[in-house]
Amino acid sequence: MTEIVLANEPLIRIAFFLAILAALAVWEVAAPRRRREIPRLIRWTNNLGVVVVDTVLVRLAFPILAVGLALMAEARGWGLLNVLGVPGWLGLIVSILALDLAIYLQHVMFHAVPALWRLHRMHHADLEFDVTTGLRFHPVEILLSMGLKLGVVAALGPPAIAVLIFEVLLNATSMFNHSNVDIPHGIDKVLRWIVVTPDMHRVHHSIHPSETNSNFGFNLPWWDRLLGTYRPQPREGHETMTIGIEQFRTRRDLWLDRMLIQPLRGPASGYPINRENGDGT
Ligand SMILES: [Zn+2]
Repeated sequence: MTEIVLANEPLIRIAFFLAILAALAVWEVAAPRRRREIPRLIRWTNNLGVVVVDTVLVRLAFPILAVGLALMAEARGWGLLNVLGVPGWLGLIVSILALDLAIYLQHVMFHAVPALWRLHRMHHADLEFDVTTGLRFHPVEILLSMGLKLGVVAALGPPAIAVLIFEVLLNATSMFNHSNVDIPHGIDKVLRWIVVTPDMHRVHHSIHPSETNSNFGFNLPWWDRLLGTYRPQPREGHETMTIGIEQFRTRRDLWLDRMLIQPLRGPASGYPINRENGDGT
């Protein structure tokens, strides 16, 4: 079973990606959370353009990706879990938790270090918040993120299937928690104990630095609650809050070419954590 899954890895990834993207797009049209101000055509073509650039660059830059490295580690006995001979089911749970925590911590670092914020702010500069926002990451951030994942995989030695599940899950939850879908408050309240919901993650896309620097989780909501970065709701309300950052607010800034050079433009501004010129509120 595992062999069949791993042999069809690219197909599995693309099938989940397209199916979830399509389902969320339909849901956004049927039951939107916020009113749309910018035509979908501009944002969707450019945000999906970033996905193509990211995918090509990551494939070109790394001779081996996370699942491939996990297979290699399994075969050669590398990494903590392989050295300890941890049973498969336990390895699976530990690996998914460890990878998710690593991504959470990486996300905090991308907000804390001004040079990294320059890369990550491209994700936050989207002027609306929908399923394609969850795919809009600067290629250099994607490369650094893959580097970190490879490091975790080499050190931990997770089962290859755990890495594949984690990557498919992260891709799916990132699309879900950025989607502009209306989930009734009562359901959201229960759901956000299990997974990061759109209402939880929208707080992170507020224009106010104190809200931007909260709710860093992409997948599991527990890290924010455990480590003190959880903020339940935006202070201006989900429907009226301003999405984005103070820089890069023109429609031209939403184009692919501007997104790619954005890290080099303007100051790092007041967003990085503990900046003295931040509003601190
Ligand atoms: Zn962020």
